[in-house]
Amino acid sequence: MTRSIGSSSLVIATHNDGKLKEISALLEPYGVKCLSAGSLGLPDPAEPGASFTENALLKARAAAATSGLVAIADDSGLSVDALGGRPGVYTADWAERQWFEGEPGRDWYMAMGKVEGMLQELGPDTDRSAAFHCVLAIAWPDGEQAVYEGICPGSLTWPPRGKMGFGYDPVFIPNGRDQTFAEIDPKQKHASSHRADAFKKLVADQFG
Ligand code: IMP
Repeated sequence: MTRSIGSSSLVIATHNDGKLKEISALLEPYGVKCLSAGSLGLPDPAEPGASFTENALLKARAAAATSGLVAIADDSGLSVDALGGRPGVYTADWAERQWFEGEPGRDWYMAMGKVEGMLQELGPDTDRSAAFHCVLAIAWPDGEQAVYEGICPGSLTWPPRGKMGFGYDPVFIPNGRDQTFAEIDPKQKHASSHRADAFKKLVADQFG
């Protein structure tokens, strides 16, 4: 049986404000007090793992060991079937733009174009199936851990469509729909996304 976080104070092992708000809001109804890694002065560890699970566990374990509190972390990304699961754990890295016009940063159009270019090189009949993955990991300071994986299967389209969302949303059409994630009302996206799927599993296991 999975150990319960109960009403512990929990560290959210992220320096991303969006993730911090989303995870805090999810756990608030269960009386869990969330602290941010930033407010505790915890470092932001690199993500050298070979899988989403490894990366999420790495971040959660590091935060639990340093803070002495239960910690939760996530890792997510896009896996494209015909590309052997790539970009996978490198999803954000494929958007990394080095000093373009003097500004480092992420270029999502470039990242989506890279995926599309690779699919087109494989030929017109190439399978365009893909899935967003999200892994939520909980780590206790004594080394115990739990992992919840969420998946949102779909397919890739080109050119990009829609202005909402972020990252690869404009080219991703979830199964059962005609619109991309960037054309869907964010509330609807959040209700059916890979992140929602992982959260549902966590809540069912921890508070069900
Ligand atoms: P990380 O989980 O912060 O390592 O980021 C993974 C990357 O996956 C993000 O930078 C996004 O590019 C991509 N990603 C994760 N979830 C989504 C999503 O819901 N829509 C679009 N892109 C996503």
